[in-house]
Amino acid sequence: MQVLLIEDDPSLAEGLKRSLNREGFTVNHLLRGKDGVHAVSTSPPDIVILDLGLPDMDGQDVLKTIRKQDAELPVLILTARASLEDKVAGLDNGADDYLAKPFEIDELLARLRVFERRLSSFKHAGMSIGQVTLDSKAQTVSVSGQALELSRREFMLLKVLMENAGRVQTRDSLESKLYSWGEEIASNAIEVHIHHLRKKLPDQFIKTVRGVGYTIKPV
Ligand code: CA
Repeated sequence: MQVLLIEDDPSLAEGLKRSLNREGFTVNHLLRGKDGVHAVSTSPPDIVILDLGLPDMDGQDVLKTIRKQDAELPVLILTARASLEDKVAGLDNGADDYLAKPFEIDELLARLRVFERRLSSFKHAGMSIGQVTLDSKAQTVSVSGQALELSRREFMLLKVLMENAGRVQTRDSLESKLYSWGEEIASNAIEVHIHHLRKKLPDQFIKTVRGVGYTIKPV
């Protein structure tokens, strides 16, 4: 799951990023509200974690602007302003959840997992194409009932390809779904993951579209 973190406290953001990465979330971090609004329109994440006290824009206005762009995007508000008034305003402006600072990282992770479950039950929790079955809730993949051992990135890559079966995914779009901005990526990273996936999957399951990317044919 891709998380956009809009938070102007760099040390808090760094800590959050590390913890969320460990849990398998991809995190892109921005310090300013305007940049956050821009990012939501150009490369929409799965969820936004939004700090209300930002230097350039009031977080409530960031939230309102995001809501105008995307009515469905889950937004979790993070703020030191723990007053009931702020909480009510945040929820009125379309926040889905609210966490007051200081908070326990475990609580944030638990809430993110709720969003993740909601998201994956919304986006086909279990899907099968041919002999391959992917369960995004249990995070498992099997071929003809036989479970596969996949790395986290292999799983994410296969999930994106299966969810978009019939459509070609370019290397760039796959990279942006699997890696955070600025994360060190070897130029052939996607090819390497595809290579490993193919050794575990039926022949010709993932097709190469020469010079463009990869696709899976829906059956
Ligand atoms: Ca702040």
